[in-house]
Amino acid sequence: MKVLVLNCGSSSVRYQLFDMNDESVLAKGMAEKIHESNSIFVHKVAGREDYEIHKPIATHYEAIVTILETLVSDEHGVIKSLLEIEGIGHRIVHGGTYFKEATLVTSIVLEAIRDLIELAPLHNHAALYGMKACLTAMPNTPMVAVFDTAFHSTIPARNYLYGVPYEYYLKHGIRRYGFHGTSHRYVYGRLTDYIGNDKKVITCHLGSGASIAAIDKGSVIDTTMGFTPLAGLLMGTRCGDIDPSIVTYVMDKERLTPTQMDEVMNKKSGLLGISGVSNDLREVERAAFEEGNERARLAIEVFRKSVIRYIGAFSAEMKGVDAIAFCAGIGENSISTRKEICESLAYLGIDFDAEANNVRGVEREITLPGSKVRVFIIPTNEELMIARDVCAILGK
Ligand code: ADP
Repeated sequence: MKVLVLNCGSSSVRYQLFDMNDESVLAKGMAEKIHESNSIFVHKVAGREDYEIHKPIATHYEAIVTILETLVSDEHGVIKSLLEIEGIGHRIVHGGTYFKEATLVTSIVLEAIRDLIELAPLHNHAALYGMKACLTAMPNTPMVAVFDTAFHSTIPARNYLYGVPYEYYLKHGIRRYGFHGTSHRYVYGRLTDYIGNDKKVITCHLGSGASIAAIDKGSVIDTTMGFTPLAGLLMGTRCGDIDPSIVTYVMDKERLTPTQMDEVMNKKSGLLGISGVSNDLREVERAAFEEGNERARLAIEVFRKSVIRYIGAFSAEMKGVDAIAFCAGIGENSISTRKEICESLAYLGIDFDAEANNVRGVEREITLPGSKVRVFIIPTNEELMIARDVCAILGK
């Protein structure tokens, strides 16, 4: 069975076409800078040179048409007909409290996703465009919606309620939702192969966006992201947790509108905001460790401490932890980040294996035999998780 996975962002569409007989990737790529005159489309097939075109792509519909045409094109295609694609999986950022698991897309589901636009304006809007484009181009192909929030739907009220008047929860849905759920679910699934499914686990998705989840016997009980993906850890450009009074104070002092302040916290903060160097940890590490840039060093320290603090908090919440997993760009690749975090948490019972840790992007354990808390690197694969959901829901 062939499954197309689409991830529509506000100005991009990423795709992967899977052959689910062996879970291989037939093709993948992305359309970027949609709505601009300098849009880019890249299509990658293993063993072939990348196909890249630069042409204006005005809408998500155009982007998806470009993707579909390329998949079946004589020169760059990997399938003969779109009829070979038996299911389409869409990554949807916000499922609110409505969607607790992946679901077949129907007109009712589309309505519900539209109702949730308020909670994730840029992302859910883009996903709806993507779904509508597929409905037009491939009306008979079933679609499945997979939600970033769904895996977190087990978080208990004591951890999802904020200390604001309860009526805001009732009237406006102000609560913790959590994000990156598909990644945390994939990583947890891989971990159970090593430790079973009845353990206390902390999964750390550390990429440009970063979040941690506390999972007890398969159910998420807490996570660092909140009402929006701005909360929790310090990230590439996002501030993570800050004293909420800073918002109104800075808006007043700097004469910023709510939209401008939102932009500061989402795009100008985090590693970039503190270091003034970059949002990319590799650049910040270079500045800190090779050039002795003090602000870059501080940015790294604040980031690492935010991870260490939450792992400590979540192991307190679960009254212990059996395993910790690192994934995403930083979690899979930054040897020094994992080392510092694991060494700082030795008190939990982590017997760190520095030699095993000396790898990038490889699934493996990085604690020594007999370690009370076992730590793993688990490269994440959200797209494969979505494709598996499509197969499960279509009963294939
Ligand atoms: P996203 O998918 O959210 O854009 P990624 O999961 O690709 O993000 O993670 C991007 C982050 O991973 C960047 O901060 C980048 O610097 C970091 N990263 C990637 N490779 C390395 C590496 N070798 N060492 C340190 N950080 C790395």
